Amino acid sequence: MATNAEIDARSKVAGGTRIVQTACPMVAACLGGSCPVYAHVKGEKVVRFEPVIPGRFCAKGAVWPERIHSKDRILYPLKRVGERGSGEWERVSWDEALESIAEKLKEIDNDHGHQTIAMFDRAGVAGQRFGQLLGSTMVSFIGAHGDSPVGAARATGWRNWTDPLGIPGAQQAPGGHAMEDLAMNSNVIIFWAANTAETEQLQMKHLIAAQERGAKLITIDPIFTTTAAMSDQWIPAKVGTDAALALAMIAIIHDKAMVDTAYMNQHTNGPFLIRQDNGQILRESDLNNQDSTGFLVWDERSQTAKPADEAGVTPTLMGGWEVNGIACRTAYQMLIDEAQTFTIEHTAEITGLPADIVYQLAIDYGTAEPGAIKKGWGIGRTYHAHHMERLMLTLAAMTGNMGRPGGGVSAISSFQAPPLNRKAAERLTDTVPQTVIDGLSLLAATTGEEVPELGKFPIKALIMAGMNWVGQWPGQAKTLREVLPNIELIVVHELVMSDAAKMADYVLPVTTPYEHEGVCMPGYYGNLIQHMPEVVPPVGESKSDFEIFRNLGMKMGWSEHFKDLNEAALLPKMWETVPGVSFDRIKEEKALVWEGFNPGATEEHPHVEWAEAQFRTPSGRLEFYAEECADLGDALPIYRERPRDLYALAGEKLPLSLVSYHSKFLPSATLNEVATFRDLMPGPYVMVNPLDAESRDIGEDDIVEIFNGLGSVILHARMSEGMRPGTIAVMQGWRRSSFIEGGMQELVSGNVTNPAHLKMKPLTGADPNAPLHDVWVDIRKVNT
Ligand code: SF4
Repeated sequence: MATNAEIDARSKVAGGTRIVQTACPMVAACLGGSCPVYAHVKGEKVVRFEPVIPGRFCAKGAVWPERIHSKDRILYPLKRVGERGSGEWERVSWDEALESIAEKLKEIDNDHGHQTIAMFDRAGVAGQRFGQLLGSTMVSFIGAHGDSPVGAARATGWRNWTDPLGIPGAQQAPGGHAMEDLAMNSNVIIFWAANTAETEQLQMKHLIAAQERGAKLITIDPIFTTTAAMSDQWIPAKVGTDAALALAMIAIIHDKAMVDTAYMNQHTNGPFLIRQDNGQILRESDLNNQDSTGFLVWDERSQTAKPADEAGVTPTLMGGWEVNGIACRTAYQMLIDEAQTFTIEHTAEITGLPADIVYQLAIDYGTAEPGAIKKGWGIGRTYHAHHMERLMLTLAAMTGNMGRPGGGVSAISSFQAPPLNRKAAERLTDTVPQTVIDGLSLLAATTGEEVPELGKFPIKALIMAGMNWVGQWPGQAKTLREVLPNIELIVVHELVMSDAAKMADYVLPVTTPYEHEGVCMPGYYGNLIQHMPEVVPPVGESKSDFEIFRNLGMKMGWSEHFKDLNEAALLPKMWETVPGVSFDRIKEEKALVWEGFNPGATEEHPHVEWAEAQFRTPSGRLEFYAEECADLGDALPIYRERPRDLYALAGEKLPLSLVSYHSKFLPSATLNEVATFRDLMPGPYVMVNPLDAESRDIGEDDIVEIFNGLGSVILHARMSEGMRPGTIAVMQGWRRSSFIEGGMQELVSGNVTNPAHLKMKPLTGADPNAPLHDVWVDIRKVNT
């Protein structure tokens, strides 16, 4: 890391250009490493970014100077004067905007109740305090973005995660191995719906290193992605059939005796006895009517049912017995019985893959020793994701790949967040209780529908900071046509006119992270805590989210809680509780390694997830069997067909699957307005296999409409043999204004909470996930 003296020296070399060390803020969007960067500043303008560490940088970070000074930046507060969404605005002062918003919030609170005012959980410290004082409903957004790994969280429990601020609804996905581990140790790496080469660019080099060492890279994806192109094998299974493929693999691995029985017996709930009358795990209390709740297994030595954790017990992994008149089978026996219905031929039919490919995939993984699964977010974005995520972990456990160097199921690398001083963030204690609602339920709440466990309460006001609810959320058609017209007040903090800002009553200009001081936290693959100084003054009249909520709090009459709340003073206090770290040290060193990131990991021994096999589940084991879902028939991880009826048009089932994918340029709509990327990426367009196009008389660059029973979008078509026939794809991250008409998220249902996700939530805290990849559509040429 450069020292201050080195940076000063560079400043002189640069001849008047100020060079300031800061960080790329895209960590969550790129799943990257919070790369340290030098900002080159001329006057009040950042002219370019340069990586501090060569190679630790990408195009998404490089375009930030363009974003900071974009001609599309909102420079002053705007008040809607025309119809909502008409684009007619009036410039107002901060005072006028905040006073009017405060008055309206008080009126709504008075007329409808505080819980009818919804805020999103990205509001930061001042926003959290504002929400507490208001008693607003807090919306957690992970599930609505499709990023809630419900099944993985259920099987393993959350990895140790310290929510640094005690933010309600905050979640952390179970992670995985450091990619350096896979580089060193894996013999087979399966990218399962993961386009790592584009979405985690900095990690791909480790996986290529594994390939150069001799590892086989396999990509399972309906799209011939960049990662597929770099792999040794592309397996284009039909969308949503991955669970059938995984079950067939389980059956083959079992039949070929490639199972790590010891691991299954000791560290999974495979040997647990399952009551065949109600699907629940047999407990001691079932036999003796006492309060003992130990899980029972069949002891091989005594040939009786005994508690799994009793000393000297030798569990039997497979079998069925009658215990005190209750018929039981082990969870593993039930899994194998289910898996064996997925014969190679049957699975080939479901997945659209040749039978020999199905067979060889199982053999490759089962004999890899070790083999890794690199999981993408796409697996979770299906209605039945809780099955597939558990199946991947079961495969890893069966083959002895859990907790083993070079094995595992990795989404991102796990990490520990620094334990910030919650007290300094001054969460108040005697305030109005807040309701926390997940993003999918918000849509139901806003239309006055019954919300599971919360009943009915319509939402009358929305405050969005760091959130584009309209643009990237499912149920866009319903949101625009049914929800927003009934909301009395919409306030959006934004940099540019996002889809949400366009529908607002007030748009408040917010600063980028380079226009106020802050700290870039470690996360994903990045272990650095980095100082982010104010590199340039706020553009126009923009203010930080912190300042906006602070000033709005004052207008609400809560000056005693806000007048002394000062961002600069708060930063040092928040780091007081973090061992070995202080804000002064962060400022001085600019970027320092967070020792608690993956404790114990070294260069020679990179982080291996679940190495200790201590799972945070009720049994402390990997639980692929989820008894709470027995009444839904979802206790075992199984294959279910994707729901179709939601998308049907006039009762007719639609023939094509629509998936969205990420590119190395647009992780989400965040960088949509950056001109450099727009020049590099013509579009938006839909990729169609020529076979699907031909039968619909669609040619290259034709204008087409993608439609289903929920909505439609009009855009250009592009032919691609890299699409599996029956699947079409549109890149993620386009705003509505990018399309000729309509929007991608119009086609996605927002009212699709899987009841199994809700049943699992008390054990995991994971919100129900949005099935963004389950969309059924058709496509037709638009005559122009
Ligand atoms: S990899 Fe991520 S953190 Fe690094 S420069 Fe790119 S976008 Fe920024």
